[in-house]
Amino acid sequence: MDLLPLFQDVKGRAVLVVGGGTAAARKAELVSRAGARVMVIAPALSDDMARLAGERGFVHRTDSVGAGDLAGCALVFAASEDMALNERVHELAVTAGVPVNVVDRPELCQFIMPAILDRDGVVVAVSSGGDAPLLTRMMKARFETLVPAAYGRLARFGGAWRDRVKAAISDSDLRRRVGDMVVEGPVAERVFSGRDSEAAHAMEAQLEEAAGRAARGPVGEVWLVGAGPGDPDLLTFRALRLMQQAEIVLYDRLIGNGILNLVRRDAERIYVGKAAKNHTVPQDEIGRMLVRLAREGKRVLRLKGGDPFIFGRGGEEIEMLAAEGIPFQVVPGITAASGCASYAGIPLTHRDHAQACVFVTGHGKDEKLGIDWPALIRPNQTIVIYMGLTMLPRLISEYLEHGGRPDMPAAIVEKGTQPDQRVVTGAIGDLPALAEAAGLGPPSLIIIGSVVTLRRDLAWYESAAEAAADAEPETT
Ligand code: SAH
Repeated sequence: MDLLPLFQDVKGRAVLVVGGGTAAARKAELVSRAGARVMVIAPALSDDMARLAGERGFVHRTDSVGAGDLAGCALVFAASEDMALNERVHELAVTAGVPVNVVDRPELCQFIMPAILDRDGVVVAVSSGGDAPLLTRMMKARFETLVPAAYGRLARFGGAWRDRVKAAISDSDLRRRVGDMVVEGPVAERVFSGRDSEAAHAMEAQLEEAAGRAARGPVGEVWLVGAGPGDPDLLTFRALRLMQQAEIVLYDRLIGNGILNLVRRDAERIYVGKAAKNHTVPQDEIGRMLVRLAREGKRVLRLKGGDPFIFGRGGEEIEMLAAEGIPFQVVPGITAASGCASYAGIPLTHRDHAQACVFVTGHGKDEKLGIDWPALIRPNQTIVIYMGLTMLPRLISEYLEHGGRPDMPAAIVEKGTQPDQRVVTGAIGDLPALAEAAGLGPPSLIIIGSVVTLRRDLAWYESAAEAAADAEPETT
């Protein structure tokens, strides 16, 4: 982030605008809408600017700008058509320590004006730091369609109730929860449709309900949520909704920033990830943490890579919750096998190749792999191995010892669905050498079966060049 987004209170403050043209008028109009007193210094005013002349505190001067004009100003806009004048205003502002914006000169701007969507006081401001104004305008247009016009009304309704809610509910988590229900529930619906007195009744009911809940003592909830294999676009709607509501999140190593950034901003974040062999937080301790936090009344998000019930120990974590009678829900995610297969162009089943597909972990307990190879090595069956990279040579030699064909096509997908996804394909016998040559690291998924050959025609995600390069070592 190059610039820090802020919303500034300029009510009653002086803002200097140098220039009287259209660009200057646009800035002047905005600051005036936010309640600033606008002083324009320009030889003449364009029609746009002249329209503002009636606003409170509006002053127009035609003389030249002096250092004294900047004293006490909240902001300065240098928006004249005379570039030399703009530069001089910039210097004066810097000397006076007043933030300055010079039109069309990003390098001279100490702040920039975002694209703004104003819903009656609820404001969305979008900026690309000046790099892509087209994109920000497009985003603004998107927001226009997303944010109901009555949001401002809802904000005012909420504002009017704020003190009463604060007095009625002392617990801040509970208060936030009531807030969530107001914004998403029947109260908002009534405000949106203009039925304010009905909304007030609904609000009373919410408060009563919350007071009752507070008296019964806190009971939180745990949401065990699968975050998918990495691409944030692959989250489910429910995952996203719960991510937005949680008060605390426990997350793993597989959860990238792209996904973590979608969690409610003021939620507390606790990293409980494990790197193989280096168990940072033991599993039963995570279970105990979930129980303790829920007992404190928190809404806890347990965010896991892929699907929580596929090699995710999700079952173990919620056993304790179930035993302790803590409410929980489980949200499935796209498991690595689906994500990697789709993004690598390898259908896991295909009528000409495989009628079955098995998922197996290559990371056994106590250094023993314990894989039932005869059950895996079968015609027309695709094998997907999770957590197999570190044991790859041993996995492959066991595969061959149990009668697997050394020329069976296989693939390793590293960081599947992520922008830096890599795929290595080849005969299974060559896989360890290929993986080593490519320097593959975690997380990586192994896919074994003749379906891998389909990738030649179906790869779509990486650039064509990469796909061509990795098709080279293919022996089938
Ligand atoms: N619950 C998860 C799996 C956790 S086990 C799921 O359903 O996907 C962790 C293993 O998953 C890793 O060792 C790797 O084999 C695989 N994995 C997870 N995300 C991956 C990704 N983006 N690319 C490749 N493999 C991945």
